Amino acid sequence: MNTPFESKRAEIYKDVPDEKWNDWRWQLSHRMNSVEDIEKVLPLTDSERKALQTQGLFRVDVTPYFISLIDPNDPNDPTRKQVIPVAEEMQSFTSMMEDSLAEDKHSPVPGLVHRYPDRVLMLVTTQCASYCRYCTRSRIVGDPGQTFNRQEFEMQIEYLKKTPQVRDVLLSGGDPLVLAPKVLEELLGRLREIPHIEIIRIGTRVPVFMPMRVTQELCDMLAKFHPLWMNIHVNHSNEITKELAEACDRLSRVGIPLGNQAVLLAGVNDNVHIQRKLVHDLVRIRVRPYYLYQCDLVEGSGHFRTPVGKGIEIMEGLRGHTSGYAVPQYIIDAPGGGGKIPVMPNYMISQSDHKVILRNYEGYITTYEEPTDYVPSDAAQYKGLKRPEPGQEGLSGLLDGKEMFIKPEGFDQLHERNGIQHRLKDDSKWKPLGIGSGENPQE
Ligand SMILES: *Cc1c(COP(=O)(O)O)cnc(C)c1O
Repeated sequence: MNTPFESKRAEIYKDVPDEKWNDWRWQLSHRMNSVEDIEKVLPLTDSERKALQTQGLFRVDVTPYFISLIDPNDPNDPTRKQVIPVAEEMQSFTSMMEDSLAEDKHSPVPGLVHRYPDRVLMLVTTQCASYCRYCTRSRIVGDPGQTFNRQEFEMQIEYLKKTPQVRDVLLSGGDPLVLAPKVLEELLGRLREIPHIEIIRIGTRVPVFMPMRVTQELCDMLAKFHPLWMNIHVNHSNEITKELAEACDRLSRVGIPLGNQAVLLAGVNDNVHIQRKLVHDLVRIRVRPYYLYQCDLVEGSGHFRTPVGKGIEIMEGLRGHTSGYAVPQYIIDAPGGGGKIPVMPNYMISQSDHKVILRNYEGYITTYEEPTDYVPSDAAQYKGLKRPEPGQEGLSGLLDGKEMFIKPEGFDQLHERNGIQHRLKDDSKWKPLGIGSGENPQE
């Protein structure tokens, strides 16, 4: 494959034979995690050294391949910040949480998060090829004593079998692609036996941390379970190498559509020019930017957080300025388990009953004249397509005409003022002050 992207190998690996370097098992067993190891590749800062020597910090492990992408002489290298801990990780911040997305609360069985009506997140391992310092699941990920758990897996399969509204299963963890190949194959096979599961997705950073794992053999195995989709996780163009480009090419050629989920991280990619280069390089390797996440309120990630305005500014600098294919959706995963919420600049400036006023990416202001004779399609046309399961209420329910309001918790109690009728309606029943709740003499 002809690619403009380069390979890199840190000085200490120069003499490693290619067949070892390109063997994912060698990469896994030679991961770096201590001051002594890492210092052979790059001079550590005081903050990094302190963090690496602290007990109880989120697990550190970096593949030789990935640590080679770091410029050893740049303490602010964007790749370095993602995998080498710093002392700021130990700092807490307001609203920091262990399980900021309330995934545990949404788990009907261990390791299966059922947050949305028609799809589930399945945590199939706690292991990764390397560990991201801002990991949203650091509460469970990295525990060396816990990998694939067969008993939990059987419970997850049982739940899925009896939950026909689930049409999409997202495998994550940890990283599903670090599972033993046979285990992964069995797992995919078991999911495919469930007829109502239409698509399977894999969320993985293995192609980025260890592209040599994406062998032709692995791709051929995955292709047996189509329709299968995959999201990788690249945060900065420096992570796009010849090896990653080739791994993505192999995945694409067996028909796996590739997306990218990036996280907006201070000091790594919190800049519109960096993001534009990132999305351009991604589409060059046929990876469609899917989501750009606002950093979660998770322990250890305080120093990575940016204001939401930074994300809006980035989106402002992407939409219209570049190919629509290269523009991700910017997402805040709501704390407390509210789920993913897209946020973006405002493009609609105003609206009347027949016109909308819009502005484009350049600041050009335009109107869109709406039809005056619009008739929505006949209800008969979508009969049988309606999905009656729980979770389809909310705003869609309001629009669909079934419900008239949504009340916050405690709304009825708060507004219970004894229900005296308005005097204009029935003068004789109206009584002056003090008859109602007595709380509000102005009533
Ligand atoms: C992110 C996520 C999904 C998938 O969301 P999409 O927006 O469909 O990509 C599903 N379940 C959970 C719990 C998630 O966090």
